[in-house]
Amino acid sequence: MSDAPVVLVTGGSRGIGAAVCRLAARQGWRVAVNYASNRKAADAVVAAIVEGGGEAVAIEGDVGKTADIALMFAAVDRHFGRLDGLVNNAGIVDQPQRVDEMSAERIESMLRINVTGSMLCAAEAIRRMSRRHGGQGGVIVNVSSMAAILGSATQYVDYAASKAAIDTFTVGLSREVAGEGIRVNAIRPGIIETDLHASGGLPDRAREMAPSVPMQRAGTPEEVADAILYLLSPSASYVTGAILNVSGGR
Ligand code: NAP
Repeated sequence: MSDAPVVLVTGGSRGIGAAVCRLAARQGWRVAVNYASNRKAADAVVAAIVEGGGEAVAIEGDVGKTADIALMFAAVDRHFGRLDGLVNNAGIVDQPQRVDEMSAERIESMLRINVTGSMLCAAEAIRRMSRRHGGQGGVIVNVSSMAAILGSATQYVDYAASKAAIDTFTVGLSREVAGEGIRVNAIRPGIIETDLHASGGLPDRAREMAPSVPMQRAGTPEEVADAILYLLSPSASYVTGAILNVSGGR
């Protein structure tokens, strides 16, 4: 049986998460590919990893549902029997709206998936990885956004605020568990070419915004995955509480 380290990537079926899963496998991780509903996309990520000689499993679960989070981690326990890394990548945007047009339901759902979901997944991971709980240590990477700094006025201020919460969560949690063998860092992607923009009703957003990026282009999921894999790796052994912009200068 392999003793390779295991990483759980939430929202690993598409976009940035899928790129993280593929690169993690190439770098020797065994991968739990979480998805919310797109089983086909998750299976394709798993198949690509297995084809490359790696090990992966698709695990369904909505990080906006507490019961699903518990089931997802239980599935990781059953399948791999260990956990060494968590990438809190699952996240949503919504249709462009001003704050004075937003419903309570929209804001609650945004914060539940993007913030509460990430916190509860981190809690489950810490219970398994922390030396305080008898674990071997581990690493958490949270996926924030440049929106946390820019604010996303007239598009989705609720989303931007959810990512600012992720930034503060990263700093606080990193200090809380630093003495227990767990590093916690975050990345802030800029404009990245994924389906996320279409899901927010702006399918051309990456192309349209590219000229406003100092590097004059949108980024790729693979470029973001490179930064995440660095933070997961022993090369970042003295890095914790850091938030890395991966935004082409935006
Ligand atoms: P994406 O292409 O829309 O993919 C979203 C992924 O998250 C899919 O795998 C989806 O699963 C999963 N997901 C959605 N809701 C979920 C839930 N409630 N529970 C579990 N999984 C869920 O998004 P992306 O662009 O790769 O974004 C990934 C992360 O990067 C997000 O946190 C996002 O905020 C952040 N980010 C993205 C950009 C950008 O420009 N793209 C910029 C800054 C930050 P299914 O396949 O099952 O739907």
